[in-house]
Amino acid sequence: MRAAIFQAKYQIDVKEVPDPVIQKNTDAIVKVVMACVCGSDLWYYRGIAEHQQGPIGHEFIGIIEEVGSEVALFAKGDFVISPFAFSDNTCPHCRVGFHTACVNGSFFGMGENNDGGQAEFVRVPFADGTLVKAEGSDFSDDMLASFLTLSDVMSTGYHAAVSANVKKGGNAVIVGDGAVGLSAVLSAKLLGAEQIIIISRHETRQRLAREWGATHIVEERGEAGVKVVRAITAAVGADAVMECVGTKESNEMAFAMARPGAVVGRVGVPHEVVINPNVTFFYNVGMRGGPAPARAYIPNLLGEVIKGKINPGKVFDFVTDLDNVSEAYAAMDERRAIKSLIKVS
Ligand SMILES: [Zn+2]
Repeated sequence: MRAAIFQAKYQIDVKEVPDPVIQKNTDAIVKVVMACVCGSDLWYYRGIAEHQQGPIGHEFIGIIEEVGSEVALFAKGDFVISPFAFSDNTCPHCRVGFHTACVNGSFFGMGENNDGGQAEFVRVPFADGTLVKAEGSDFSDDMLASFLTLSDVMSTGYHAAVSANVKKGGNAVIVGDGAVGLSAVLSAKLLGAEQIIIISRHETRQRLAREWGATHIVEERGEAGVKVVRAITAAVGADAVMECVGTKESNEMAFAMARPGAVVGRVGVPHEVVINPNVTFFYNVGMRGGPAPARAYIPNLLGEVIKGKINPGKVFDFVTDLDNVSEAYAAMDERRAIKSLIKVS
């Protein structure tokens, strides 16, 4: 089969590699229909974070090709959505909904023996605990694109909103207008926030944010941005803050605009972030978040997509095929695309 292989920074090649095979009775092999590039893949692409030479990618949807003898919930031909991490769905951490901390789990496209999602086929460990079936087969490309976002980006935006405790009728601020930040806007709307404020300077991203429910766009950053948010929230501060970037500056901004008692929901992987314990202590500001337990959210979000209530697939503004995967990375790296979709089969 063909698979995207991380070679070195700025070099991702499509190579002919052996087809994956069932290694354990709980495995399934998925024929990938669509995959995509994650913001976190860009950290590797740019050489900011380390990645082993080998398969890459962790967001994919597809059709079951083969199942191991102990897989009970899936059969050949089922259409499935895979979260970016695999999990047994039975350990103590899975049971409370934190599948990314599964004691038997790991992440696709990372580590010694884990297939990448940007490939024609993927071996999925713990298929019963990992995959979610989409009933039916006649899905439009737009519907499939929305399914694909549940693998990571939409589930991550939703995790920011859940972690920040977004409430019906309240206000919510999103720091970051990348694909995750935009998905957080859609999630805040879904959870019933009335005022949705996003920090954004990019016109195309602002447009999608407005379409998805943002009521205010704040172009200022740092202290100036905090001031504008305070003005919008009648000097009270934000009921819920979603941090979707991960830098020192974005975190400072997020904590500075939280009202007393609010929670900052963080999904941006922190890079050199320092949390000021005095701010969190004296204002009773909480902090939650981390890698999204996508597996816990997919069934509910899939229902909302199928009902037509949300259309997160609109975040994709660049489409290519597996042979041109390197162009999919370049488009995001050069900010020509918010998020790249790869049609595999
Ligand atoms: Zn588990």
